[in-house]
Amino acid sequence: MIPYGRQSLDQADIDAVVEVLKSDWLTQGPTIERFEVAMAARCEAGFGVAVCNATAALHIACLAAGLGEGDWLWTSPNTFLASANCGRYCGANVDFVDIDPYTWNLDADALAQKLKIAEGEGTLPKVLVAVAFSGQSCEMRAIRELSRRYGFVVIEDASHAVGARYAGRPVGCGEYADMTVFSFHPVKIVTTGEGGLVLTNRPELAEHLRRLRSHGMTRDPAQMDEPSHGPWYYQQVELGFNYRITDMQAALGLSQLDKLEGFLARRRALVARYQTLLADLPLTLPTLQPDAESAWHLYVVRVQTEGLSVSHRVVFEGLRAAGIGVNVHYIPVHLQPYYRDLGFRPGDFPEAEAYYAQAISLPMYPAMTDEQQDYVVDHLRRLLADGQGPQR
Ligand SMILES: *Cc1c(COP(=O)(O)O)cnc(C)c1O
Repeated sequence: MIPYGRQSLDQADIDAVVEVLKSDWLTQGPTIERFEVAMAARCEAGFGVAVCNATAALHIACLAAGLGEGDWLWTSPNTFLASANCGRYCGANVDFVDIDPYTWNLDADALAQKLKIAEGEGTLPKVLVAVAFSGQSCEMRAIRELSRRYGFVVIEDASHAVGARYAGRPVGCGEYADMTVFSFHPVKIVTTGEGGLVLTNRPELAEHLRRLRSHGMTRDPAQMDEPSHGPWYYQQVELGFNYRITDMQAALGLSQLDKLEGFLARRRALVARYQTLLADLPLTLPTLQPDAESAWHLYVVRVQTEGLSVSHRVVFEGLRAAGIGVNVHYIPVHLQPYYRDLGFRPGDFPEAEAYYAQAISLPMYPAMTDEQQDYVVDHLRRLLADGQGPQR
């Protein structure tokens, strides 16, 4: 089976983890801070706070943004569940903004229209989770302008976008987002097994994120409501969590970061080949945005099902039957039973739903060979040719 994505680990990664295993610190040690500093430096951000996964990172980012009961969080329906669930963890209401039919990202024009209506109704969002779908940022310039006008916090869910750039700067630099979240799950760009990170340029947010990561505890006398009892003393000043990452994971992350440029280059090369090899097929290929240099976590094609006698599902199952681990990203979040119970219905976000009816994520990962890619392309070509047969 050719998977749709997988990690690339080498001996240096293994050695880095083993070195930590032989050290004094398995967690809360110095490697975590080294990883945070390295990620912040790579992305030109002020501060990094590493946590156990990106879902936890989104949760504490929402809390640090002040999101709570009665507030609204908006995000894209074309994302992983966590981009929306983080609002529900905080007791907030969640709503969605439909996607752009070409980039498959949250549509900034649809956002502007929805904000105008929400302003009239007094239901403006406190937080927008702008998902960099497949590794390509949304129209962050427009989103930043809207956030200034309407006063919401921008959290970029860049789980797909480690190493991506937007408008000439690294994703995470904080020019267009208050906080940026990365995931280090094995299918993502670089891995720590499980892991996530929040980047921000605002020191008060970074401090708050650190406190929320570890039970809402502080050892800083300035944050306490009475004088310290002694060197052992700490206070819990709010409700936090244990969302810590381990030093073994941070060591793996640091070692992976050394290879980021190579990973990105291989992904770009595979994308260039797919774009050429698939150009004559009845598929809608990803649109390359001038402003955004994607990290290419995913390579998604849309099957142009009109005029074909094969369905999206038949093409998908045909690829799977050939040992090709295709996937679909994503089932629109508002169609999940949990969100339907909150009042969402089919038809609410038609672009996301039309996209879902056609989308297939083709395999792509740094260790994928040209031969494996040719195999994927050949099978896709054959399945689509079968579908065109009866019409000819
Ligand atoms: C993977 C992913 C997450 C969650 O990441 P974890 O590290 O698995 O918690 C959140 N948002 C998006 C868009 C993702 O792809």
